[in-house]
Amino acid sequence: MSYDKLIFEISKKGRIGHDLNIRSNNFKNISKNLLRETSLNLPEVTEPDVVRHYTNLSMKNFGVDTGFYPLGSCTMKYNPKINEVAANMPLFTEMHPLTPSYASQGSLEIMYETGKLLGEITGMDYFSFAPFAGAHGELVGLMIIKKYHHLKKDFKRTKIIVPDSAHGTNPASASVAGFETVEVKSNKDGTVDINSLKELLSDEIAGIMLTNPNTLGIFEKDILKISELIHDAGGLLYYDGANLNALLGKGKPGLMGFDIVHLNVHKTFSTPHGGGGPGAGPVGVVEHLKELLPSPVVIKRDKYEFYNPKHSIGRVGKFYGNFGVVVKTNAYIKTLGKQALENVGNYAVLNTNYIKESLRDYYLLVVDEVNMHEVVFDGLKDKSTGIKTLDVAKRLLDYGVHPPTIYFPLIVNEAMMIEPVETESKETLDNFINVMKLIAKEAKENPELLKNAPYNTKVRRLDEVLAARKPILKYKDLFKE
Ligand SMILES: *Cc1c(COP(=O)(O)O)cnc(C)c1O
Repeated sequence: MSYDKLIFEISKKGRIGHDLNIRSNNFKNISKNLLRETSLNLPEVTEPDVVRHYTNLSMKNFGVDTGFYPLGSCTMKYNPKINEVAANMPLFTEMHPLTPSYASQGSLEIMYETGKLLGEITGMDYFSFAPFAGAHGELVGLMIIKKYHHLKKDFKRTKIIVPDSAHGTNPASASVAGFETVEVKSNKDGTVDINSLKELLSDEIAGIMLTNPNTLGIFEKDILKISELIHDAGGLLYYDGANLNALLGKGKPGLMGFDIVHLNVHKTFSTPHGGGGPGAGPVGVVEHLKELLPSPVVIKRDKYEFYNPKHSIGRVGKFYGNFGVVVKTNAYIKTLGKQALENVGNYAVLNTNYIKESLRDYYLLVVDEVNMHEVVFDGLKDKSTGIKTLDVAKRLLDYGVHPPTIYFPLIVNEAMMIEPVETESKETLDNFINVMKLIAKEAKENPELLKNAPYNTKVRRLDEVLAARKPILKYKDLFKE
């Protein structure tokens, strides 16, 4: 295995970055039995060594700040740095989570106001910021659905309907919440098949989980019909908000008949995604479900205060969720303002359709309709080359582009899910389109080249199964065998 020198390998005994002579003195008042006896196994290196170590590590990563990142469903938009400035203000970062509400009115106001802003955007009446991610929001939403039925002494409703095109977290969350998942079939465009849905309806149905636009990037035109059918059957509608970017300022899940939504602030509301930072999955509900929200929520009487909803599903995390992320969401919405927020959806949709039209002769379109925020191709159009979506994805790395999401949704064999988002320039989109065309040409002329890509990355093609099953997480493990 090849790797650059690790910080532990360049360690030399006694080497330090700086010494302010505080090391021994500070600990003289601590009783001996509380002090550790063996020293920590830390690398001993100079300050420039540390700086170079972390800077080099950061350069091995691919991020939104280094290149185009059309990872479908993940909405990898540029995160304005001013949001970080807001979230890093000492007034927020130095606030102790146990500070009483009379002394933390400013922070409470931000939570309250952000809930109102998200309410206006989604058509929900109340929000909780307790969940830490989208999937966590799903679990919270499902616990609310369960409690709603139980409060009505209706214990028969044990099934949740999930489309076969759904994100894997949907059935997983349903299962963790103690529901049985029943799958509803999708039409060719990924929308819900109404006849298949009707067959599933019974007094055992607790609700349905949907994302709109769906995972093929197509708007669910029958949503009002679906919501009528589910409500008539006694169930609730849960909105997976991962695709909200397409609808920002244009459509509200509340008007479509949804009762509960989660939002992924690390997708739609410009918080760095994945390893880049903590996220949040705020959950919003319509008026009649507000007393079931996880506690605490912020309300406004004379002052802002915490409130424990009467039939709350309880606490789902420590304190109030990832507060810094709420600040970023607030700053993002307010710096954009109403008109620019509406343009998020406009440009996300425009950029997607531009890519779709430019690539339709080279890659196989799954649905030939006007798309919303993302487009899914079923691999190369010319299937004679034997080149898979995985090969195309790996070759994209050589051209400095992050691959799109691949092999999701599961209903498309060679799925390539492209979401360009609204923050990219036409030049960036054109470069991506040209690279995709070039790869289609390479697939024909030199397929072996693609099968062994990437060539220009720090590591070559990885054994992804082995990497998932036997990850090497400690530097020492590198030296085994
Ligand atoms: C990302 C995503 C989720 C899960 O959200 P996390 O914040 O990653 O837990 C759920 N559904 C869809 C469609 C998604 O894209």
